[in-house]
Amino acid sequence: MTSSEDLAKRRAAEAERIAISLARQKGEKRAMIKGGEGTVAWVTENLCIGCDQCTIVCDDDAIELYFKDMASPLLEVPSNRKAKIIRDACTGCRLCVLACPTDAITMIDR
Ligand code: SF4
Ligand code: SF4
Repeated sequence: MTSSEDLAKRRAAEAERIAISLARQKGEKRAMIKGGEGTVAWVTENLCIGCDQCTIVCDDDAIELYFKDMASPLLEVPSNRKAKIIRDACTGCRLCVLACPTDAITMIDR
């Protein structure tokens, strides 16, 4: 019978395998995203859930959140936060694109 120690080891090994795989995928994804001085981040408002991840990773204070009324009265949330890019402060580093869980941020030409 499998012991709990064996299970814990297998679980840890599997977690490590997944972490390595995700890190590699993230690196590949980043390589495919255009960035740099000639680009600026752009938020697609209806994909943004106001989770604040992008503002945490942005070292240049180029993102701020604002409140917006929810479109559906079925949801008992009167307003939701949305992210907005401050164009002049954005350096095109792409970190926010990688951090966004809903793929709401893309890089566009300046
Ligand atoms: S691309 Fe970089 S500097 Fe621009 S908003 Fe995203 S994290 Fe901030
Ligand atoms: S990380 Fe994405 S979903 Fe979250 S606040 Fe920023 S743009 Fe919106």
